[in-house]
Amino acid sequence: MTQASAGIQAIRVNMNVQGNSFIVFPALLWDDKDVILVDTGLPGQVEHIREAFLQAGIPFEKLTKIIITHQDMDHIGGLPELVRLFGDKVEVFAHEIGVPYLAGELPLVKSNKHAAPVKVDAVMQDGDILPYAGGIQVVFTPGHTPDHVSLYHIPSKTLITGDALTAQDGVLHSFVPAYTSDQRTALQSIAKLQALDIETAIAYHGGVCEGDLGSRLQAILDTAQDEPQ
Ligand SMILES: [Zn+2]
Repeated sequence: MTQASAGIQAIRVNMNVQGNSFIVFPALLWDDKDVILVDTGLPGQVEHIREAFLQAGIPFEKLTKIIITHQDMDHIGGLPELVRLFGDKVEVFAHEIGVPYLAGELPLVKSNKHAAPVKVDAVMQDGDILPYAGGIQVVFTPGHTPDHVSLYHIPSKTLITGDALTAQDGVLHSFVPAYTSDQRTALQSIAKLQALDIETAIAYHGGVCEGDLGSRLQAILDTAQDEPQ
């Protein structure tokens, strides 16, 4: 029975960037067979990810899969090092549009630099249900970047937002406009998320939100409509 032993939780990773603290909330999902990390922090911070596993009581060495929500450096930075550490024991998942960026073939859209190449083992598409941790639905949510996905953990009704949304003090907020290349598309992506029955959201920047998140998504879209694009 994998269902009973499946789970999800946000881990708090406190990274050190030139002496300043930069906190992000990757998601961890697990079942009898797999431990899955969603997004990997900045380069050179894997030790802080290991610490966050420890605090969550999940053995770091059990990591078997890494899902990347999108190509930004604060999400893919730890990936080359994790792949080096775990070798064939870890599988990398990304949306098909992200693959050439992660492979270092195309320059990253924001920095225009090439990422340290990592091979994607499993290519995701919109609507895919990954058969892990009781079922994870891939929701293509471009706009922040062209390859952006959010993930919906079906058994717990938890949305892993990536950077399609942010959070502050337990309240869900829109994406950060300054870092979002195509805001019109990003708003359409938020509207798409309204089709999901979301009880909990994990925002990479800001952490966990609960409550009436359907109404909160509507409020975010209503506010955006009143603002000039
Ligand atoms: Zn980010």
